[in-house]
Amino acid sequence: MTVIPHGLSNGGFVRDLSDTLCVDAIPLDRIAAEVGTPAYVYNARAMRLAYRTLETALAALPITVCYAVKANANLAVIRIFRDLGAGADVVSVGEMRRALAAGVPAERIVFSGVGKTDAELAAAVDAGIGQVNVESSGELKRLNALAEVRQRRVEIALRVNPDVDAGTLKEITTGTADDKFGIAIDRVPAVFELAAKLPGVSLRGVAVHIGSQIVDLQPYHNAYRRIADLVHQLRDEGHIIDHVDLGGGLAIPYDREPRVDATAFAAVVRETLGALGCRMTIEPGRYLVGSAGVMLARVVEWKEDLARPFLILDAGMNDLMRPALYKAYHPIVAVHGDTGDVTVDVDVVGPICESTDRFARGRAMPRLKAGSLVAIGAAGAYGAALSSEYNSRPLVPEVLVDGSRVAVVRKRPSFEEMVGLESLPPWMEDSPAADRPPTAELPEPDRAAE
Ligand SMILES: *Cc1c(COP(=O)(O)O)cnc(C)c1O
Repeated sequence: MTVIPHGLSNGGFVRDLSDTLCVDAIPLDRIAAEVGTPAYVYNARAMRLAYRTLETALAALPITVCYAVKANANLAVIRIFRDLGAGADVVSVGEMRRALAAGVPAERIVFSGVGKTDAELAAAVDAGIGQVNVESSGELKRLNALAEVRQRRVEIALRVNPDVDAGTLKEITTGTADDKFGIAIDRVPAVFELAAKLPGVSLRGVAVHIGSQIVDLQPYHNAYRRIADLVHQLRDEGHIIDHVDLGGGLAIPYDREPRVDATAFAAVVRETLGALGCRMTIEPGRYLVGSAGVMLARVVEWKEDLARPFLILDAGMNDLMRPALYKAYHPIVAVHGDTGDVTVDVDVVGPICESTDRFARGRAMPRLKAGSLVAIGAAGAYGAALSSEYNSRPLVPEVLVDGSRVAVVRKRPSFEEMVGLESLPPWMEDSPAADRPPTAELPEPDRAAE
């Protein structure tokens, strides 16, 4: 039986007796035959297991889990966590509407994000969102004004930038003074002073999110220590603080790194923040869904016309962007094992006209024939969510497996659906509107300036 890398087995991907990669008991080749490739396949049970592992580890603490929707925004995925009692962490009005559409109660939604527009803040107030995490004094004033005209008082927390390096890739660290996120910790007391005078907001909490794929717990320890000190200081200054939002960032295994130990994480929380008597929120994204997904792809060519061999897949960087964006590692395996023990070091690439369209460099792979299936593992988080239609490739479909049940939870758009929002301007030949006189003309630039 061919060995399954850690990053795949962790999400419940196993080999059956014929050495075919399966999710639970469903062979992945069956799914590929039904929906085509590329396709994302998610394991609902692995998502629930990750949630329960975290919930169990945190059970002794007053913590609510809010699933960070941006990791995987599919409605069915949000619904899985809603059914387990989770809230949602959202970073746009689109994500807010997804969470509501998936049935998450508004009061269990936290609205985060560094650049919320007035329209988004107004939508959050109108929907009765449970908490808005405010990231600047300007946003605080805008939210207050929007709440006041609606005669509402919005529960908020201030996102604190603790200036702690999360020890991750620099692209996904968010809590250092060099990043755009939050309010510098030494400026937070002044913003609390300001908020105390604003009738449209109720500020009794602080929030922190230091980055993503955090393997080592020390940065959490450092950040939460600083938050605890800050809470003491704010209380000494007369503010009521009854809530701390811990952010997300818990790591999953991609290569050989361990899955972050939820029990050890809970111990860090207890040690640093446990004595404050605050209720807490945690916002994991990747930890809950990352391991539970693979992207299925087919081999287009095993190419040997260059100095080194290339394994060309029908999936590209537009479908799974993490390797191109962060040089991220993903395990890649043949769906059908028993390809022999001989492997060749190849670059695994996609068909996109970009040199960064590479899933792996010098990866040991069996010499796969055109048409063979491969699975790219640990693709449940920031996979489909980051995908695009670059090179006019329709978005990849998403399939959810739950035990013996299989459902397409996002279908592959047709060509017509992909181009359906586009139209030719009426002055172009062959445009359906070409015969009609224009209904409105934009003013000439110099006339508009008058
Ligand atoms: C992205 C994000 C999360 C989730 O991060 P993960 O690394 O996926 O756990 C949580 N909170 C905020 C504010 C975020 O921006």
